[in-house]
Amino acid sequence: MQQNLFVYNTLSRKKEKFEPLNAPHVGMYVCGPTVYSDVHLGNCRTYISFDLIFRYLTQVGYKVRYVRNITDAGHLEGDTDQGEDKISKKAKLAQLEPMEIVQKFTVGFREVLQIFNCLPPSIEPTATGHIIEQIELIKVMLERGYAYEVDGSVYFDVEKYNSTHDYGVLNGRNLEDLLNNTRALGGQDDKKGKLDFALWIKAKPEHLMKWPSPWSIGFPGWHLECSAMSHKYLGDQFDIHGGGIDLVPTHHTNEIAQNIACCDKNPARYWIHTNMLTVNGQKMSKSLGNSFLPHELFTGEHSILERGYSPMTVRFFILQAHYRSTLDFGNEAMDASDKGFKRLMNAITLLDTLKASGSSDIDITPLRQHCYDAMNDDFNSPVLIAELFEAVRIINSVHDGKMKIDAANLEILKNTIQIFVFDVLGLENEQAANDDLPKVMDLVINLRNEAKINRDYATSDKIRDGLQKIGFQLKDSKEGTNWSKI
Ligand code: AMP
Ligand code: ZN
Repeated sequence: MQQNLFVYNTLSRKKEKFEPLNAPHVGMYVCGPTVYSDVHLGNCRTYISFDLIFRYLTQVGYKVRYVRNITDAGHLEGDTDQGEDKISKKAKLAQLEPMEIVQKFTVGFREVLQIFNCLPPSIEPTATGHIIEQIELIKVMLERGYAYEVDGSVYFDVEKYNSTHDYGVLNGRNLEDLLNNTRALGGQDDKKGKLDFALWIKAKPEHLMKWPSPWSIGFPGWHLECSAMSHKYLGDQFDIHGGGIDLVPTHHTNEIAQNIACCDKNPARYWIHTNMLTVNGQKMSKSLGNSFLPHELFTGEHSILERGYSPMTVRFFILQAHYRSTLDFGNEAMDASDKGFKRLMNAITLLDTLKASGSSDIDITPLRQHCYDAMNDDFNSPVLIAELFEAVRIINSVHDGKMKIDAANLEILKNTIQIFVFDVLGLENEQAANDDLPKVMDLVINLRNEAKINRDYATSDKIRDGLQKIGFQLKDSKEGTNWSKI
């Protein structure tokens, strides 16, 4: 277990020593996507950052229960308490069931994260699977006087709550400040105060996703699902709550208020927020029209892209920035990451060929410690990557015969690479996989040639057509058979 891990806590606005409530167990909740459209690269940045955190905590010996929800109901347009449910709206447009939309984009989300080599969370609960738990929390808040009902809808009473607690604790704003900066939404609902937010919303007849409750047939407010699910799987209070920094002012502020209103505890001791992926300095977002999808980045098929990049190059690009810094997307920055990633992977490929000497010019132990130090300093992946380039320099020097390394240090070097490049940063050597492809293709082509020699044309055609189907074209000539990717 790492005793020296420091984590920046949005709550205290400083780095704090990480001390889990119940070590070696760690409870971590991260707000998941609203599954009404494809996730864009900005969303992926947030989930890749938490994957890094999950991987490191696991690496140093914690038993992490990582809960990341799927928002499949209750998230209304413009993040408000009015307007249409984002999923229902999409379903009506596509003439599909809301659950068909949910299924499509949940599967898509999981596929994308798998391509980026993100580990699956321990539990991936859905809002619609926890309606009963949400209703139970509303009952508690009503009983304890923090909520009120108006005409079938239930609202959280922010001013009442703030009279005994600090509503703006997460972003360090006081209530007056917040009130002055919030516009009233034209009196379209029955809230008592401008900052009050819905816990339960009575459904209009045309609303598709609705459930019975003691107050009305309706649906839960967006912020409530995370309180219900984090509470159910991680308890009154757990270790880490995370999400993008854009969730601080409203979603997470309201989650804290709800949890305290229910059980007098801030749900999490450490609030971790990732910064935004930007394009020309502007947050990447679907509504601003500057977002693109991961597969557009892989193929290069988007107007702002000059070419495509492999998934691991993109993951490397994301991890080259600290999760609390903004990261601006650009073609040059991607090219630089592509070069850096290849340099790292080329050296790792060489590592297996290095021979140990009887003596060593280098002691690898400090390098390994520096890698831990970087991650212990609030998961500082750019500093970790800089240390790994020191390892690259050593590998290349040993390979070129300019430096000697003994067996013990070579073992530590290999172990450090395994831990930090593969297990913690979660990178994969795509090149190694590609290097094997020509060998595999040679084998398949030889099998086809043998079939042809034996006049077994059924088999030789089957091989050619099968390859064609998965994107490989064979060309026969006098010199032999060549293959290419279609
Ligand atoms: P949503 O599906 O809109 O609730 O967003 C899912 C997650 O992606 C949230 O944690 C957001 O904070 C995060 N997110 C949205 N846009 C970006 C961005 N441009 N950069 C990084 N994270 C983002
Ligand atoms: Zn949430």
